[in-house]
Amino acid sequence: MSNLERNPREAECGGLADVATEPVNELLAGRDVVLGGPRGMRVTRTLPNREIRMVGAWCFVDHYGPEAATMRVPPHPHSGLQTVSWLVEGEVLHRDSLGSEQPIRPGQLNLMTSGRAVSHAEESPRDAELHGVQLWVALPDAHRWVEPRFAHHPALPSLAGPGFTATVLVGELGGAVSPARTYSPLVGAEVSLEAGAEARIPLRPDFEYAALTLSGAAQVGGTGLAPGPLLYLGTGRPGLVLRAGGPARVLLLGGEPFEERIVMWWNFVGRDHDEIVEFRREWTGGGGFGTVPGPVGAPLPAPELPGVPLRARGRRRETPGRIPPRRRRG
Ligand code: MN
Repeated sequence: MSNLERNPREAECGGLADVATEPVNELLAGRDVVLGGPRGMRVTRTLPNREIRMVGAWCFVDHYGPEAATMRVPPHPHSGLQTVSWLVEGEVLHRDSLGSEQPIRPGQLNLMTSGRAVSHAEESPRDAELHGVQLWVALPDAHRWVEPRFAHHPALPSLAGPGFTATVLVGELGGAVSPARTYSPLVGAEVSLEAGAEARIPLRPDFEYAALTLSGAAQVGGTGLAPGPLLYLGTGRPGLVLRAGGPARVLLLGGEPFEERIVMWWNFVGRDHDEIVEFRREWTGGGGFGTVPGPVGAPLPAPELPGVPLRARGRRRETPGRIPPRRRRG
């Protein structure tokens, strides 16, 4: 999926300055964004967030549906990241400049690694029920220029207990290891809870975590979580308890706090303003992003860059005189 905003914000993020050193329970409201014009698809974007811009290497979280919708994302570029596509309901066809053509269905993982440059397009059947998430993972500097690759994982390992199953998209959870290739210590899992279930999920105290309810409602670490906001959980947790009155699905994202400072703009993750300018120039006429074969429509034009130089912003929004809510005990 693409960031289709016409005036995407430039965000500098990463760095360890504001990583919570203890468990917290902080609800982060998302922004409603319409992808692709007035008749486009509605998504709730919880990362980057006004308060927190990354959780581990996770730097972008869009949640869409469930609703009858049409995803039509024409060819667009990516640099410096991996796209992680996960569906709860529906089907999406992925095509990319490597020649991949792959439908994805619920329970499967599509993982595209951009390295320096890749382009792709996505579409779903018209006005069909659609529910899922589009996530991005920032590549660490040591692996930013890897060869682009695309992987489809039709079956993933899971961790199961009484009344729950946790499917591991990437990384490792309770001994279940995803085959998906990632480049920094991180985890992504979908916890499916039956009515009345209590799931005890082992965590790594050195990771920071966040949770997003996809359907139903759950108590996550003691905090009620319905679809909408992202619950930031901080670090220092050996485990997490999830409870659900009715059936629920909760996406758990975590990772080692991302040390490097990054700049995200439109569909690019770079390290400074000049790099973003170069990525944009390459997409606009350089040809370095390849072409997506098939009936995918005209490539998306890049938005204009902001007229002012990149304003450095920390990992967390700073407001003088205000005690950051992330420091509250959870
Ligand atoms: Mn995309």
